[in-house]
Amino acid sequence: MKKNDIYEVEITGMTHEAMGVGKVNGMAVFVQGAIEGEKVVAKIIKVAKNYAVARVEEWIIKSPERREPFCQAYKRCGGCSLQHMTYDMQLKFKHKVVTDNLERIGGFRGIHINPVIGMDNPMNYRNKAQYPIGTGDEGPIAGFYARRSHTIIDSETCGIQHTGSEKVKNTVMDIIRKLNIPVYNEKTGEGILRHIITRVSYSTGDIMVILVVTKERVPNLNKLIQMVTDKISEVKSIVLNINRRRDNIILGDIVKTVYGSGTLIDRLGHLTFHISPLSFYQVNPVQTVILYEKALKFAGLTGNETVFDLYCGIGTISLFLAEKAEKVIGVEVIPEAVESANKNAKLNNISNAKFYCGAAEEVVPRLYDEGIKADVVVVDPPRKGCDSTLLETMVKMQPKRIVYVSCNPSTLARDLKYLAANGYNLREVQPVDLFPWTEHVECVTLMSRA
Ligand code: SAH
Repeated sequence: MKKNDIYEVEITGMTHEAMGVGKVNGMAVFVQGAIEGEKVVAKIIKVAKNYAVARVEEWIIKSPERREPFCQAYKRCGGCSLQHMTYDMQLKFKHKVVTDNLERIGGFRGIHINPVIGMDNPMNYRNKAQYPIGTGDEGPIAGFYARRSHTIIDSETCGIQHTGSEKVKNTVMDIIRKLNIPVYNEKTGEGILRHIITRVSYSTGDIMVILVVTKERVPNLNKLIQMVTDKISEVKSIVLNINRRRDNIILGDIVKTVYGSGTLIDRLGHLTFHISPLSFYQVNPVQTVILYEKALKFAGLTGNETVFDLYCGIGTISLFLAEKAEKVIGVEVIPEAVESANKNAKLNNISNAKFYCGAAEEVVPRLYDEGIKADVVVVDPPRKGCDSTLLETMVKMQPKRIVYVSCNPSTLARDLKYLAANGYNLREVQPVDLFPWTEHVECVTLMSRA
């Protein structure tokens, strides 16, 4: 088999990145954009030792689950990967991804995994947008990175973002073109404006704008602020994030508020949260409430428990738990997030939540040595999952229940396997669709002592 060869391929499965999988002469072929059940004519674009990658040239049999992508930029943009599938099929696909991971990596056999909870209206759900800025043929452009690249796609609208974010991006770009504010050049490191980031409060409609810049002194900044806030009254805060780095990390460490309070207030369920510019906050508020309610249910609190909420961010899950527990201890590594968590406890008149700043794998062993133990532990780590020291300490601590919230089914499966080998039984797995049209899936799982 070689590049540019053409084959008929029956698609019998899907990879976790949503590529169709078939076989040609016994070799696995991954076909971009093909769906399980389809038969296609495919052109080989890459041949590796044990597999090949191909692109669809023509469909012989189309899946009834195929739909027209709603976005013009779908093929090029690196944001969405499931727009060619019906929403129903996306949910089934995600269910399979979770099942495969738990079976293959976790070693769990024949377990029941609840159907993925989808959205009634899976459009415009994101409360945070990050638009890289660059220079196109006709001047400054902003949009999204193309798949696996740093080429900027200059898109006017994005169907998964809040319409307010799109409006801010387009307005800011018009203004910087008018005012000639220099745009950053990734290759030379010259220029000033690197990214426009928006965070939207779905409960109030307020918008916080973060301008990532190479230096504090942005020419015509006051005019820019005036024009943006005149045009879009929802913009209640503008902050600068200074990033002088030459790598591809988006954010720098320094934040300077140049308009408004520099924070955003949002409500999730009946709780109010104060969000600082750099803190983690779930991007899909509608589904987040469902996720947190499941986590709370899995925690099974009666009011007498000490609960640890590890990787707690700005204390969102902690405060949901605090109302039903005797006390909650939150642990989070980013100081600004811990500061917000403390403010959020006050804001909601919650006095039984205490937050520690530090790595969970350092703080929890220390608390354990001091004799502070949890009856229930909730973890919500980043994609890489929990640190092994933390898992070991959890096992020593022997909480009754462990609720694991995860945005990565493979590290979830790895960590649950360790807990299962150390006396915990997997009781329930609930995937929630926090990221419609993308291959990502969130899960909340319950383990309890055997
Ligand atoms: N539970 C929160 C945040 C989850 S995101 C929510 O639902 O909003 C994961 C969080 O873990 C981030 O806030 C990140 O800053 C934090 N984090 C990353 N590594 C950590 C570590 N080793 N110890 C504690 N917190 C960590």
